Amino acid sequence: MRASKLFVQTLREFPNDAEAMSHKLLVRAGYIKKLANGVYSYLPLMQRVLTKVSNIIRQEMNAAGAQELLMPFVQPAELWQKSGRWQVYGKELMRMKDRHEVEMCLAPTHEEVITSVVDGIFGSYKQLPVNLYHIQLKFRDEIRPRFGLLRGREFIMKDAYSFHTSQESLDAEYENMAQAYTKIFKRCGLETKMVQSDSGAIGGSVSHEFMVLVDTSVGENNVFYCEKCGYSANSNHAVSKLNDETTDGGFNELKLVDTPDVRTIEELAKFFNVGENCILKAVLYIASFADDAKGEKVPDMPVMVMIRGDKEVEETKLMNAVGALEIRPAVDVEVKEYLGTEPGFISFHGCADKNVRVIFDNSVRGMKNFVVGANQPHKHYTGYNFSDIKEEDLKGGKPEFVDVSLVKKGERCVDCGESLNVTRGIEVGNIFQLGTKYSKPMNALYTDENGKTHPYIMGCYGIGVTRTAAAAVERYHDDFGIIWPLEIAPYHAVVVPVNTNDEAQVKLAEEIYQKLLNKGVEAVLDDRADRAGVKFKDADLIGYPYRITVGKTIAEGLVEFKARKDADVLKLSPEDAVEKIVNAVSALK
Ligand code: ATP
Ligand code: MG
Repeated sequence: MRASKLFVQTLREFPNDAEAMSHKLLVRAGYIKKLANGVYSYLPLMQRVLTKVSNIIRQEMNAAGAQELLMPFVQPAELWQKSGRWQVYGKELMRMKDRHEVEMCLAPTHEEVITSVVDGIFGSYKQLPVNLYHIQLKFRDEIRPRFGLLRGREFIMKDAYSFHTSQESLDAEYENMAQAYTKIFKRCGLETKMVQSDSGAIGGSVSHEFMVLVDTSVGENNVFYCEKCGYSANSNHAVSKLNDETTDGGFNELKLVDTPDVRTIEELAKFFNVGENCILKAVLYIASFADDAKGEKVPDMPVMVMIRGDKEVEETKLMNAVGALEIRPAVDVEVKEYLGTEPGFISFHGCADKNVRVIFDNSVRGMKNFVVGANQPHKHYTGYNFSDIKEEDLKGGKPEFVDVSLVKKGERCVDCGESLNVTRGIEVGNIFQLGTKYSKPMNALYTDENGKTHPYIMGCYGIGVTRTAAAAVERYHDDFGIIWPLEIAPYHAVVVPVNTNDEAQVKLAEEIYQKLLNKGVEAVLDDRADRAGVKFKDADLIGYPYRITVGKTIAEGLVEFKARKDADVLKLSPEDAVEKIVNAVSALK
């Protein structure tokens, strides 16, 4: 490719609506162009990167025994009603009607469609297991599309679905996919960590995510991990052992105490001179739910979480615990409306007939003689114990314990007791065991050796193709631009004649370029009449892994060779420079 013909326009400035480095760089270097919020055109350079990522995925998926197909982007609502997800998917599902008033949607994912595809084609146990995948557009009307390709509304995903007759068979395929994923990301030049995760809207029980670790908030996930035993989990799923599992507030008598305007945990700890871990904190949330099976609206429900004063609520865990679609902290007027008191003093006292669901986080189990709000303005109890709870406080008089807390760095690993670390991660892929979550409601059945029918046992496995490419940029860049891993770079090398008026330079650059092409290197010849400085800047910004510069040193029979990721510039004969690149490219699988 000649740079004079390449459809690219690099920009002098970063776009001002971008936060993530990958977003800034992909726009500025001419890879993507925004069409609408969260919707981008992939320009020729980007398309080459995406093709490479897709091909790596294809090769490894095929090698792992999966078969490629292609399913539609537009889907009938009917299928989603069958699986029960039409009600629960929420606003991310882009719904519409066709000219016959038939309800349709843009595919946010393909569990329903694949289940309907397999049903009736592979109906016998003899044909199973099977794993089918495609690489296809998805549309999700994300509430906060951001970070460019990392969280778009329209994006490209590889999604695979496997169908089995037993849990053992699913387990084996799950492991097979985990290995394929590790290979895929490695071949994309990315190191990933496989972490346990929440299964979210897709459902199922076991799931893992593949994270590219980054140290900025562009990594939207917090990953807790143990260096000793390898435990690692997304914060929405992570558990820990507390360093102080039992805590004693030291108040040996139950008392109702005036606490005028003492509201926050910090203020209470000071006021009573106790650790925050000796205060039982109450947080009120409002949970909203999917419409019921008849399509009737289910009313919102207040949920009170009782959690140790030094711990925070993990909202995904809480959503799962109460089966909510969405959850948000209650505002002050709601606190008054539901509890009849003021924020800062709330608790479960006298709540048995108040229609508030009360949940106790596991972190509170070891608390004794603690401080807790009295659910009356400006009053707290001290020396409270769980045995003091009465029938009028909680239905049944007994607390309901669940894990809804956020792990903290330094808490201990549940598997080995070592201190947990935390880092940020970009989720580039995930694998789920779905079981019969879709096959059962959709009545998708296979026949066993005795002629009996059962719902398929399923797994699903996703990779964000566009997100993976962007994650590579997030991971590999410097002040001058992108540093593509050779495997997924749009081109392997650029050849830059310094002075396009110098015939000898132009001629040699052309020869080198032709040689590279002949040896299978994807090369660009920067034949533009611009100053050398402009061309170098563009080369660094675009991120070609190798650059050969043809300048004055040709008088000594030498050219300059530079790898984008290294600082040093080597003076080599044209043959040696070409050979270096050819060798690197041939080493790619
Ligand atoms: P997230 O938690 O980041 O929203 P998800 O759990 O919704 O991801 P899945 O539905 O499992 O993601 O989709 C599989 C893969 O698709 C993800 O691992 C991710 O790489 C990619 N992906 C999901 N949402 C987006 C998006 N809005 N933009 C780009 N890629 C996405
Ligand atoms: Mg999502």
